[in-house]
Amino acid sequence: MFMFIPIICGVKNWDSPYNTDPRYTGLYCPNCHNLSVEPVKRREFFQIWFIPIVPIYWGKQIRCSICNWRQDFKTDEELNKVVNEQQHIKQNMNMHY
Ligand SMILES: [Zn+2]
Repeated sequence: MFMFIPIICGVKNWDSPYNTDPRYTGLYCPNCHNLSVEPVKRREFFQIWFIPIVPIYWGKQIRCSICNWRQDFKTDEELNKVVNEQQHIKQNMNMHY
C-alpha cells in the first residue's frame, strides 16, 4: 500500500515593532509617497509543517505599511541617519503645500 504524505513547507515571516517613538514612525516612503514607514524587527523562517526550522532573515528593517516597501538597517545610528534625512524631506514637503 502506498501512502502519500505531503510535505508542507514554506516561508513564515513576521514583523514586530522595533521602536514606537513618534520620531521613528510615520517616515516618508520613497515608493508610494506616504508617511507610513516605521522600523520593525523582521524574521523569516523556512518552515516544514508549520514549524519554523531555518532562519532565512533575522534583522531590522524600515517598512512601509501601505506598499510593503522595505529597507534594511543595522544599527540605531543608521536609523537615526535615515530619520535625519527624513526631516529634510518633510520640511521640503511643507514648503510645497
Ligand atoms: Zn510605501
